[in-house]
Order: sequence, then C-alpha cells, then structure tokens
Amino acid sequence: MPLSAQTPPPVGVPPLNGEPLPLEFVNTVFPVKGVLMDGFRTTEHLAWWLRSCRGSLATHLPESAVDALGVADVQCFVMLRDASRRLVDALVNCREADPWDVAHLNRAATMDRAWPLLCWNAGERPVAVHVSTAVPSIAVQSEIAHAVVRLLTGASGVEPKACVAPGCVFYFDQARSRREWCSTGCGNRARAARHYARRHPHRDC
Ligand SMILES: [Zn+2]
Repeated sequence: MPLSAQTPPPVGVPPLNGEPLPLEFVNTVFPVKGVLMDGFRTTEHLAWWLRSCRGSLATHLPESAVDALGVADVQCFVMLRDASRRLVDALVNCREADPWDVAHLNRAATMDRAWPLLCWNAGERPVAVHVSTAVPSIAVQSEIAHAVVRLLTGASGVEPKACVAPGCVFYFDQARSRREWCSTGCGNRARAARHYARRHPHRDC
C-alpha cells in the first residue's frame, strides 16, 4: 500500500535538527540507548526522511517516486551517506580522506546532469525550475553529493563541527552560532558531565 504524507513515521527515524541538508544527511546515523542506529534501515525509513527533507531539495520528488523506492535505493543512499559521513569526520578531525570515499562521492555527483531553467510568468516573480536528466531517486543522490562537495570545500559557508556532548555522534553548522553542541539537550548534558568531572576528578563518567 502506498505511503501517504499522513502516514505515521516508522519507528526509529533519525531526528531532524534543522541543519543544512548535507549535515542532516550524515546525521541519519544516531544513538539510541548507547547503540548506533541507521536511519535508513528500510524503504519506509528512507521515504520518511526524503519526505521530511523535500523542502530542502531542488530536485522535484513526486510522491510516486517516493512510493517506488526499493531496497537497492536504500543501499545506494546508505553507501553515499556512509562515505559522506567519513569525509565530514575526516574534515572536522583534520585527518586524511579515504580515496575510496572521495571517488564514491564524485561518482554520485556525476550521476545526474541538472540545470536551472528560468520560468517567468507575467505578473509574477521569476523562479528557477530545476531540470534533471535522471530519475528522482538518482537525481536526489546526485544533488546531495553536490551539497556535500560544497560543504567539504567551504563553498556553502557551512562550518561542520562534531558535537562534544557525551555519546553524541551528530555534526552541526558552527557558522550559525559559536556553540560546542548540536542541541540544547546536548549542551545540558555536556555541562552536567563537566560539572560531575570537576566534582569527582578520579571517577569515570
Ligand atoms: Zn549533540
């Protein structure tokens, strides 16, 4: 049965933190009670995430394309997400990138040839219409790969940083505010952990 926009999200979807698209993408790995979960475990999980991020995508993603997602699409998104996540991790930790990850990202970026077309109706503000040569699921992967390239090269103005709160694995845009954590909850936990460490210097948290 096709999923509709009103369908409740499947259990265990990744949190959306309002970060730029490439960071939301790499943040689809998240901890639950200390165990890392993959937010793209099934086609339903991937469909939920794509619907949730549709407003951040230039690619036209009709509901029929989301309903048609298959296991192979999930595997492709997971591989692109994992390569992107390792590259962001290498960047924020000043480590060398794995050439395989660079090649994988570049391959995904070339899977589509997209361009903007000017559309200007009388009496209306001109808008750009995104034209793609690939099917939507491929076009979205290519668009996300482009966004990750822009993120890694600094072209997007985003400054990725890893959250320092205990147990958190998220990245956030430090250019928006000079913080050390991804959310208010992580900030509270990080401050509590520091307070505990000062009061109990010889114990592990
Ligand atoms: Zn965090």
